[in-house]
Amino acid sequence: MKNIFEFKTLTEFTDYFCDERTCLEHFASVRFANGEYCPHCGHEEIYTFKGGKRYRCASCKQDFTIKTGTVFGESKLPLRKWFMAIYLLSTTSKGISSVQLAKHVGVTQKTGWFMDHRIRKAMQQNGGQLFGRVEADETFIGGLSKNMHKKKRMAAIKGTGGTGKAAVFGLKSRTGEVRAQVVKSVGAVHIHPAIKEHVAPGTTLYTDQWVAYRGLHEFKRMMVNHGMKEYVKGDCHTNGIESFWALFKRGYHGIYHQMSKKHLQRYINEFAFRLNRREESMQSIFSELIGRMSEGKNMSYRELIA
Ligand SMILES: [Zn+2]
Repeated sequence: MKNIFEFKTLTEFTDYFCDERTCLEHFASVRFANGEYCPHCGHEEIYTFKGGKRYRCASCKQDFTIKTGTVFGESKLPLRKWFMAIYLLSTTSKGISSVQLAKHVGVTQKTGWFMDHRIRKAMQQNGGQLFGRVEADETFIGGLSKNMHKKKRMAAIKGTGGTGKAAVFGLKSRTGEVRAQVVKSVGAVHIHPAIKEHVAPGTTLYTDQWVAYRGLHEFKRMMVNHGMKEYVKGDCHTNGIESFWALFKRGYHGIYHQMSKKHLQRYINEFAFRLNRREESMQSIFSELIGRMSEGKNMSYRELIA
């Protein structure tokens, strides 16, 4: 079984994953990295037949393929197309529309959209708490205007501010990790829980003067006064998270044009996923995604029996 592969370019990637068999073997090596198991019952004794294409569980006697119980088992699409789509979506820094994706991979637009969203689902953000030094900021996404001045935030708290924009809250650790989420409003009632969930007490929090950051006594708050044109005061700034907003908005306007609010969080996850891995090789990013997608619906089961 081939499980050592290397690629730095798209050509090397397509050379390596040149046929369906190689892709299936690769996927098997990822899915069964910690030992083979039955996706139906979790039993660890399984047999192969039909030349290794199908498996049967020694315990529940059910048949399955390497794709059963994962995202890849939900459609008849060859893994090779999935792999190509995953490669494109994870390595294109400004994002790629599902229309473009469909063209490159050679599927219908509808299928491209399906693949796109399934892959994004695997780009979920990490859990756990950031610590040390962390920037916090909020922004608004949507509509046609490029940006919304922060003075409109009060209006947005009361609803949408009549703009139809979605409020998004974000954090960026000075070690580099970005977390961002759609919030109901940028008021303290929604910002405080988001901070407490994602940031460890005692952390130095860099924010602007927005009132919603008041009263967070378990953190050391450092304030940037944007109103006074004071964007950088020594180490105290929110430039990191603001550049994430800029990157995301460029993608939003340039590539995706219009993201429905329903899917906004997934697009944010996609951009955060890529940014958080900008130092990593394409190969390790690809492997991580394949690994996440191999967990499929049985992730919790596998974790339970581990
Ligand atoms: Zn079984």
